[in-house]
Amino acid sequence: MSKRILLTGGAGYIGSHTYVALIEAGYEVVILDNFANAARRVPGALEQITGVPVTLFEHDVLDRAALDAIFAEHAFDAVVHFAALKAVGESVEKPLEYMQCNLGGLVTLMQAMAQAGVFNLVFSSSAAVYGVPESLPIPETAPLSHANPYGYTKLVGEEIIAQTCASDPRWSVGVLRYFNPVGAHTSGLIGEDPKDIPNNLMPYIAKVAAGELPQLSVFGDDYATPDGTGVRDFIHVCDLADGHVLSLNALFRDGLGHTVNLGTGQGYSVLELLGAYSKACGRDLPFQFTPRRPGDPAASYADPGLAKDVLGFKATRGLEEMCTSSWHWINTCAADN
Ligand code: UDP
Repeated sequence: MSKRILLTGGAGYIGSHTYVALIEAGYEVVILDNFANAARRVPGALEQITGVPVTLFEHDVLDRAALDAIFAEHAFDAVVHFAALKAVGESVEKPLEYMQCNLGGLVTLMQAMAQAGVFNLVFSSSAAVYGVPESLPIPETAPLSHANPYGYTKLVGEEIIAQTCASDPRWSVGVLRYFNPVGAHTSGLIGEDPKDIPNNLMPYIAKVAAGELPQLSVFGDDYATPDGTGVRDFIHVCDLADGHVLSLNALFRDGLGHTVNLGTGQGYSVLELLGAYSKACGRDLPFQFTPRRPGDPAASYADPGLAKDVLGFKATRGLEEMCTSSWHWINTCAADN
């Protein structure tokens, strides 16, 4: 019998791509989402892509009574937990909202899981837990720190999980530290769809390409990197989604938790990404250099070795596919929302 998974935040950007990957891998999936940062059209798009009717509960992950009712109704084998706030700048302005949603949400969910006897969890963490990296590529053993309330919630979230696992051996948790997820599903039916002006690079470039924003501001041209602009480990969201399937498979196979990077191991600069996107959309995209954004490290890219050893994970989609899939999404669906 196929295993049943609760996917919190399953209508969001990474959650929706992971939903597709889980269904394709033969899992049964139930989505919990409050649509705080997800489009109403996503469940229909997921049905179109997978051909499977979506089971969805519209609740906040902080709603313990709703969680208890869902756990009572469905015998879940595991939870994949995406539901959280993720905008770094907003977290600086509203730290308590980030603590409540990201930490309160995690604690509430784990309490509901424990009560229901579900102890397998995959947790969305972030390369933000490495703060400003001391050396590159970044292994999982690198020192951990935080540069903003968002990063703090991921770091403390990992600690909450570690202490809970230490207290009760029934827990098996996969902690996945994402680098920079970009791109969209090949169907063009789901993708990243920020409600406001994007903070992140790729969705900002996409809006410039679509003519919705006049030009990209490149934050800093004097970093100690080959072209002076920031370098990041951009990973195709479908590769990231596959990483969640492998993480769940490993939890079910080994009964052991893991903490791994999900990245490609390859860094590209802001200008390289802009160049690749220009190629994908067929025109040179305008940009200007502006001062560095406070708190940004010059470069960040993963050591992907442990994820390969523990999960068998290896990103397969390159920079070109990241940009062409994003542009396809922008042209097919994002504009209709
Ligand atoms: N960046 C930029 N202009 C923007 C947004 C981001 O130059 O409008 C740069 C940023 O300084 C960093 C890289 O793009 O070097 C990736 O930033 P993003 O916010 O996407 O992800 P982060 O790595 O900060 O989580």
